[in-house]
Amino acid sequence: MNEHETGKKVIIIGGGLAGVEAAYQVSKRGVAVDLYEMRPDTMTGAHTTGFLGELVCSNSLGSTQVTSASGLLKEELKLLNSFFLRIAEKYRVPAGSSFSVDRIKLAEAISAEIEAIPNIKIIKQELKDIPNTDDLVIIATGPLTSSDFAKSITNITMRKNLFFYDATSPIIHAESIDFTKTYMASRYEKGEADFVNIPLDEQQYNEFVHELVTAERVEMKDIEKDILFDACLPIEEIARSGEKSLSFGPLKPVGLIDPRNGKMPHAVIQLRQDDLNKNFYQMVGFQTRLKWGEQKRIFTKLPGLEKAEFERFGRMHRNSYLNGPLIINKFYQCKLKSNLYFAGQICGVEGYVESISSGLAAGIFAAKAALNEARYNLPEITATGALIHYVSQAGWENFRPTKFSFGLLPDIPAAQMTSGRGKVSKHMKKETKAALALETLKAWTAKAGI
Ligand SMILES: Cc1cc2nc3c(=O)[nH]c(=O)nc-3n(C[C@H](O)[C@H](O)[C@H](O)COP(=O)(O)OP(=O)(O)OC[C@H]3O[C@@H](n4cnc5c(N)ncnc54)[C@H](O)[C@@H]3O)c2cc1C
Repeated sequence: MNEHETGKKVIIIGGGLAGVEAAYQVSKRGVAVDLYEMRPDTMTGAHTTGFLGELVCSNSLGSTQVTSASGLLKEELKLLNSFFLRIAEKYRVPAGSSFSVDRIKLAEAISAEIEAIPNIKIIKQELKDIPNTDDLVIIATGPLTSSDFAKSITNITMRKNLFFYDATSPIIHAESIDFTKTYMASRYEKGEADFVNIPLDEQQYNEFVHELVTAERVEMKDIEKDILFDACLPIEEIARSGEKSLSFGPLKPVGLIDPRNGKMPHAVIQLRQDDLNKNFYQMVGFQTRLKWGEQKRIFTKLPGLEKAEFERFGRMHRNSYLNGPLIINKFYQCKLKSNLYFAGQICGVEGYVESISSGLAAGIFAAKAALNEARYNLPEITATGALIHYVSQAGWENFRPTKFSFGLLPDIPAAQMTSGRGKVSKHMKKETKAALALETLKAWTAKAGI
């Protein structure tokens, strides 16, 4: 059955990570798509282009190891024929075992690919209201949903949007970095030596921590102070939590021996290549809400960055999301209005890969509904299913957006662990859970006709 038999199309609002993945999945199943994207006429506070599928901050889609949360989710995306991941493969930049890309070239390619799909109509316009229609609608307007549209969502969900704040890291022009004061290495020598490392001795580290905790920050309203997202804490907040916090956190030196003297520095600041041409480097783990002048003053005191020119400073941003468990069911469908779906960060997942995952699943489920085809729940034992389970079933009282982690997967009895004997290590548990997830997902794709 196709679009002409049901007469339904799918309207997707938001051409970000979730929106383009959903658009591809719907169109691939023969259902027509209207894809609304407000950029470039109306920009968000974080995007810099009018391209679809722009990664707004880090250029990393996380680890490639299947025993890491992000690695398993990406393996599942590949099994499910993810459009975004397929295109992203072509724009990878060297980054050890992390899947990093040239963000701008990737977004340009994503836009061109989506534009070339005949049954996707791209409409460059900000929608201020949820369309009143019998067609299916997927809302994928992301953490920076425009304010009028956010109000329109609240009218349907009858609850206030929830939000927290998080922060982005600075990006530096490569030509302004003094590489003679840095060294190339990947942690534990995994993969190629792709990261630029700035070594700090104890005195330099202590001075840096002191600068961070005393620097001027962008102030927040009182009621907003406690809602910084734990997984994306600004570097100055980590520094405030204890003088050693950074050297055990984003500046940890373990596995980063300086080849020039064979020693491990007291602390290390890492820079990751941000584009294919090596024009830009991003400070890893340096999300910050320090005032821009303060960022320049403090970061240019670091060895090698004395003359650093910043392409972008770190900044805080508001992050809108819904209380998923009250509003969304196991098909990413609105419990209160059945032709409505939510995908991406707005529904309560957190992160690039998670947003792509939810866009993919919502796209498949919406297309199946448009075609009047049977739909099958994604088993919770898969990473893709565990995310849906979290968003739709977690406790609503303290609901917070989440990244996928192995802790979201159900426990496996020790007897089922791959070694079968002796103490079960964390790694072994992850290996077993990952193998089971992939096997289960393969069976699901066969049953669900994916
Ligand atoms: C500043 C910032 C930095 C982040 N950094 C990272 C990171 O480094 N790593 C990570 O894993 N995750 C990060 N995230 C979290 C998250 O993974 C990304 O925001 C991701 O892009 C979310 O995907 P999405 O599809 O839900 O939203 P988006 O990719 O933001 O897409 C939403 C789209 O909807 C459009 N839109 C909004 N309102 C309307 C409207 N009314 N009409 C039409 N179009 C509209 C927007 O222009 C946008 O293109 C960050 C989030 C933010 C806000």
